[in-house]
Amino acid sequence: VAETPADPPKGREATGVKITHPDRVVFPDAKITKGQLADYYSDIAGLMLPAIAHRPISLVRCPQGRAKQCFFQKHDAGSFGKSVHSVDIEEKDGGTEPYLYVDDATGILQCVQMGTIEFHGWGARADSVETPDRMVFDLDPDEELDFEDVKKAAMDIKQQLADIGLTSFAMLTGGKGVHVIVPLNGEAHWPEVKSFAERFSRALAQSEPDRFTATMSKAKRKGRIFIDWLRNQRGATAVLPYSARAREGAPVAAPVSWTELKEIDAANRWHIGDSAELIERANGRGLAGWGVADQALPDV
Ligand code: ATP
Ligand code: MN
Ligand code: MN
Repeated sequence: VAETPADPPKGREATGVKITHPDRVVFPDAKITKGQLADYYSDIAGLMLPAIAHRPISLVRCPQGRAKQCFFQKHDAGSFGKSVHSVDIEEKDGGTEPYLYVDDATGILQCVQMGTIEFHGWGARADSVETPDRMVFDLDPDEELDFEDVKKAAMDIKQQLADIGLTSFAMLTGGKGVHVIVPLNGEAHWPEVKSFAERFSRALAQSEPDRFTATMSKAKRKGRIFIDWLRNQRGATAVLPYSARAREGAPVAAPVSWTELKEIDAANRWHIGDSAELIERANGRGLAGWGVADQALPDV
């Protein structure tokens, strides 16, 4: 039997991670295979590493594809490969649990080989888990709202943060919403960051109760945007920049500049097939310095 011609060398081969079943379809709607997902991640790994490296992560794994069962994995099963590391983190009960982290492209690809589609991260690094290096406001719109409403909310929050001296950045989640990300210098501990995020969100909901709610309940969300400040507690995660999403059409989480956000009409604007465009964008002026700011929480 004649062998089919080999594919041209792809980025994923450079990582040395063997991807089994590369032709398995993981996104049936978009007809995207595990091999294509691995190609996306090897293309984008360089862009992902500043955010993901050395951060405890949770994975959304869908070994049989997104249409079948997916599960959220927080702990190290010890079976991923040598570049998927483990860090012991203290739990509330006083014991410890091993959490996962990676610090190179090989680690990312070893997760993909194990069926990972999405990468979520703690707000702190593995070597300083008690002091977050970012705060995030996760804007979750009620179903009846438009993306225009979400954009307006994100820009208002950006302005209010700027008014108290905080620089923030926007990320499309690849799903329905936007994350407003506030880098922190790692001076404050979790309770302080959580309390700040809660007070900021509740104040906003109180001043504009028709647009915002800071309460998780679905009933209170009717026609409003839930400012999910609960991402800012110890152990909580948020989807990481450039992570693929296990959603229809194989979208990805994408950093955007505040200027270009104005022109964007959906949170799932970019997809797994867009790695070349994402890399080009990341090298452009609009995203220079995205996600970087050396700042402390103000005393408010
Ligand atoms: P969207 O814009 O569609 O809301 P999202 O990534 O913000 O996308 P959310 O449902 O708001 O999705 O979830 C916010 C974060 O909470 C996720 O990014 C994830 O890190 C975390 N999360 C979601 N589901 C779970 C879960 N089952 N277990 C643990 N953490 C979760
Ligand atoms: Mn959300
Ligand atoms: Mn949320």
